[in-house]
Amino acid sequence: MPVHAADPPKHKTALVIHGGAGVIERGSMTAEEEKGVRADLNAALDAGNAVLSKGGPALDAVVAAIRVLEESPRFNAGKGAVFNAEGKHELDASIMEGHTQRAGAVAGVMTVRSPILLARAVMERSEHVMLAGQGAEKFADSLPDIERVPNSWFDTDRRRKQLEEAQAKEKAQAGVHVKGSYFGTVGVVALDQQGHIAAGTSTGGMTNKRYGRVGDSPIIGAGTWADARCGVSGTGWGEFYIRAAVAHDICMRVAYKGDSLATAAEEVVDKIVPAMGGDGGAIALDKDGNIAMPFNTAGMYRAWMKPDGTRGTAIYNDEKETPAH
Ligand code: ASP
Repeated sequence: MPVHAADPPKHKTALVIHGGAGVIERGSMTAEEEKGVRADLNAALDAGNAVLSKGGPALDAVVAAIRVLEESPRFNAGKGAVFNAEGKHELDASIMEGHTQRAGAVAGVMTVRSPILLARAVMERSEHVMLAGQGAEKFADSLPDIERVPNSWFDTDRRRKQLEEAQAKEKAQAGVHVKGSYFGTVGVVALDQQGHIAAGTSTGGMTNKRYGRVGDSPIIGAGTWADARCGVSGTGWGEFYIRAAVAHDICMRVAYKGDSLATAAEEVVDKIVPAMGGDGGAIALDKDGNIAMPFNTAGMYRAWMKPDGTRGTAIYNDEKETPAH
């Protein structure tokens, strides 16, 4: 009988998802809305896990899960994206593969149905890491598989109301920056059977943002990071996430300081960002399948599947899942 080498042991998989952090207090959503959010988060977990359980790459799992949330009007990514100050949608997204540190990003796209797919195309089908605005649109023109929609396709009544409220507040407090309170960005980090990590983020940015404003979500190292040990996707007030290089900082604390993932993520999200005046949250995953989901806001939509197969969704901070240190 021929002797076969034993199959190499498969790495245990894990998946973590956020659907944005912000003012999400108990009572601010109807039971129906809450059910819808949890159903979407579960559908995103299922889509990502379908890839991972078959031995597929973390990168595919990240894209599959983000696609579900981009298509849902409940999240500030793809359909349901927030409006900028001119009543339009400008979408940002990025993706990074940990073991190769390849990355792709798009900023300010206005007609691309799935910004995460275009970010992946920048990574895999261009020689660049990031394309912005009209250049990104032009790149999309050259890719027949990238679906295009009119900018109004992203409209939802709920987001228009939020724009009107933000603009009324801004007028009432002339000259004072109104802190963004309508988050809903989506992000996913996955660990596959090869032990590889990937992370991605997709967003409409912040309500009432100035035309041309780019947040942290498409900035590699700020809103998204993945390396061989660690992956992060952030959500929150993007200007602070850029200034604190949040996603990179979390993973470098693990790499250089030897911090546990939970300590690193909590330190950055609960101390560094608020000390600067920002707010938000992050999801992080390491090569051992440890998950951290800290946030310093009233809530963060989140979902996880651990290496032992247990899974869950949570919204409010009193549902906080205590990550293993
Ligand atoms: N970080 C995103 C941005 O600033 C917004 C969010 O996470 O809700 O564009």
